[in-house]
Amino acid sequence: MPNPKHKTSKTRRDKRRTHIKLSAPTTVLCPQCHEAKLPHRVCLSCGTYKRRQVIEVKEG
Ligand SMILES: [Zn+2]
Repeated sequence: MPNPKHKTSKTRRDKRRTHIKLSAPTTVLCPQCHEAKLPHRVCLSCGTYKRRQVIEVKEG
């Protein structure tokens, strides 16, 4: 079976992963309620998309 001939050192492994990181998701402000929301998605706090009511929002 093909196997790596040498173990990858922690340094080499971590260097390979330097560009692998989490980034904060992009948010836009809802034109209706001005809450932060994900772009191209229904606003979860007022249930509108393109100023149209599309889902019911349960009041907590
Ligand atoms: Zn909204």
